[in-house]
Amino acid sequence: MPFVPELIEKKKRGGRLSKEEIYHLIQGYTAGRIPDYQIAALLMAIYFQGLDEEETTQLTMAMAQSGELVDLSGVQGGTVDKHSSGGIADTTTLVLLPLVAAGGAKMAKMSGRGLGHTGGTIDKLEAIPGFRTQLAKDEFLAAVNEVGAAITGQSENLVPADKKLYALRDVTATVDSLPLIASSIMSKKIAGGAEKIVLDVKFGRGAFMKDYDQAIELGRLMVDIGRRAGREVVAYVTAMDQPLGLAIGNSLEIIEAAETLKGRGHRDLEELCLEFGAELLYLAGVEGERNRARERLAVKLRSGEAAAKMKEIIARQGGNPAVIDDYSLLPQAEFRQEIRAEVDGYIKDIDALRLGRTALKLGAGRETKEDQIDLAVGIRLHGKVGDYFQRGEPLATVLANDQEKLTWAAAEVEAALALTPERVEKPKVIYARITRAGVEER
Ligand code: URA
Ligand code: CA
Repeated sequence: MPFVPELIEKKKRGGRLSKEEIYHLIQGYTAGRIPDYQIAALLMAIYFQGLDEEETTQLTMAMAQSGELVDLSGVQGGTVDKHSSGGIADTTTLVLLPLVAAGGAKMAKMSGRGLGHTGGTIDKLEAIPGFRTQLAKDEFLAAVNEVGAAITGQSENLVPADKKLYALRDVTATVDSLPLIASSIMSKKIAGGAEKIVLDVKFGRGAFMKDYDQAIELGRLMVDIGRRAGREVVAYVTAMDQPLGLAIGNSLEIIEAAETLKGRGHRDLEELCLEFGAELLYLAGVEGERNRARERLAVKLRSGEAAAKMKEIIARQGGNPAVIDDYSLLPQAEFRQEIRAEVDGYIKDIDALRLGRTALKLGAGRETKEDQIDLAVGIRLHGKVGDYFQRGEPLATVLANDQEKLTWAAAEVEAALALTPERVEKPKVIYARITRAGVEER
C-alpha cells in the first residue's frame, strides 16, 4: 500500500482512489494509526477534486464496516427505513412508524439523539412517561416482529468512522462536500441494516442544504450509492423554508404526531407522511401501486388504526399509551405567551431557522452533546404561509419554563413571522422524487 502522503497527493491531482486505498485510509483512521492532520488534508483534497460514484460507494462501505453492522434478517418479511436530513417541526418519523406498521410493513428504526433545534426522535419520545428508548437487540427485533414497528437508540459503535470524520470535517471547513455528505448519511443507513430506504433531502433556509440543485444532486448520489450497495433507495427533495408542521419542541411534537395519526394533522405534514408511507409500502411489496398504498394509509389515519398502533408501540416499550388521548400527561411548561396578529392579513413568511434557533435557546434542543433538554418548552404555530388571520388572533404560542426566556422568545417569534394584506399562495412541499430511473420533478 502506498504511503498516506502519496494517496493525498493522488487525490490532490484529481486521481482516483482504489477500493483498497479507501479501505486502508478509513480503517487506519478509525483505528488511530493515521493521524487527523493527514485525513484533514485528504478531506480538503476531496472537497476540491470530488469523488466519483464508485469511489463514493467504496468510501460509504468502508465507513459502514468501520463498526457494528446491524443484522435485521430476524425480521420476517424485511424492514423499511426512512431518513431525513433534518427539518424544523418535522415529526414525520414519529407518524410513519405506526402508520407504516398499520399499513402492513415493518419498520425497525434506529435513531440518534439530536443536536440542534429540537431533540431527535429518541429525545422526543422521552417526553412519554415510562417510554424506554434503549432496547436490547433481541427485544427490539421481537417488538418489530410482533407490533410491526419499534424504535431504539443506536449503538455507540455504529459507524465510528463517521463520528471521527464528521468531527474533523466540522473544524476543517469540509462539511459541505456532496460525496462526503452522501457517504456519511448512507454509511449509517447501510450499517443500520435497512434494505429499503426513503430519504428526505430537505433544502431551503431551515435545512442543511440551502440550494435546490445541490439537494437534487445529493439525492441522486445517494440513490446511486444504494444501487451499487444493493439497497433500494428512493429520495425525495422537499422544502424547508418554513416549518413543516406547526409544533417545535419535544412534548409539542408528540402532540402533533398524535393529532396527525388521528387524521387532524397539518396538511403539509400529512402529505409527507402519506407520500413517504406509500413509497415504503410499495418498496416493501405490501402494495403494488403507490396510489393504492396512499389510499390505504389515508384510511388508517381516519379509522383510528394508526393512532391505535402508536399506543401499541408505546405500551410495548414500557410507556403510558394514555398520552395519545390525554396530552396533559406529557411534560407541561410553566409559562406561555401568545403572539397576536397586529393587522389583518396573510402569513407571507415564516423563518424556520429563526424559530429553530429560538426553540433551541428556550431549551428544546442541545447546543452540545452534554446539554439537558427541557421537554416541555417550545413554539406552537397557529398557521403557515398563506393562512389568513384577523387582527388580534394568535399566530403562535411560546411555552417556556423561564419568564425572561419567554419574553425574549416571544419577540423572536414575532420577528420570524411576516404578514401581508395581499393573498399568498400556499407553497408546495414536495419538489422531486428520485429513483434509479431518474429525477421526477413535481
Ligand atoms: N448529515 C449527516 O449525517 N452527515 C453529513 O455529512 C451531513 C448531514
Ligand atoms: Ca439537525
